[in-house]
Amino acid sequence: MRKKIVAGNWKMNLSLNEAFNLIDALVENLQLGILKNTKVIVAPSFAFLHPISGRLRNTIALAAQNCSENNNGAYTGDVSAEMLKDCNVSYVILGHSERRKYHFESDEQINLKLKKALSTNLIPIFCIGETIEERESNKYFQVVKTQLIKGLADINLSNASNIIIAYEPVWAIGTGKTATPQQAQEMHAFIRNEIKNLYNDLLANTIHILYGGSCNAQNALELFKCEDIDGGLIGGASLKANDFIKIIEAAEKA
Ligand code: PEP
Repeated sequence: MRKKIVAGNWKMNLSLNEAFNLIDALVENLQLGILKNTKVIVAPSFAFLHPISGRLRNTIALAAQNCSENNNGAYTGDVSAEMLKDCNVSYVILGHSERRKYHFESDEQINLKLKKALSTNLIPIFCIGETIEERESNKYFQVVKTQLIKGLADINLSNASNIIIAYEPVWAIGTGKTATPQQAQEMHAFIRNEIKNLYNDLLANTIHILYGGSCNAQNALELFKCEDIDGGLIGGASLKANDFIKIIEAAEKA
């Protein structure tokens, strides 16, 4: 049985004070020990990782939203995987569609970042997903398969807990248009089967595949109940404590 994972991607939102208030509200709620089956992760901006790491009290794990594929050096504005480790970060979101779109990150660059994260003992949350044009032209399985194959090229995964996959249809991110549970389940089953082809049965059966794209307090339970959906990567709805807690409760219940 795979546990559920709920990860909040705060993107470039919240002031330091707002971030503190949100994390304190989450920790207060989750500290009651109510969670048996769900792991909670938050991904604040780089600037707040270290101050927030001091307030998590072992209840919530910390993720970064990106990292460099390089070790160190003259890369102005970049942050290395080692620097993230120094800030008590355990997870790193890689290949997010906003990085692919606005920063032109290619599958090849994402592959290098995945390798760097894995070799630094960070757990990547590796995002894949098709655009609306790719869905409407029925290319979505092929697009996701290519992203998987190129992203994971020459990566030897011995343990499924070393990586998390997030299926995020680009047309559902921040649009309020969620994939139906049937659409999401169909793609998650496809991804799990591709992981089996790339690695083996055990890895495919134990790897976590999260859904992301306008997941909210109302639709989370139905999505998380699907056989191959192991939780969610949540953007907008992770910025409000009440909504995020309801999503975590849905994961616990599913
Ligand atoms: C995301 O960007 O990872 C995401 C899922 O955003 P939203 O929940 O706002 O669609």
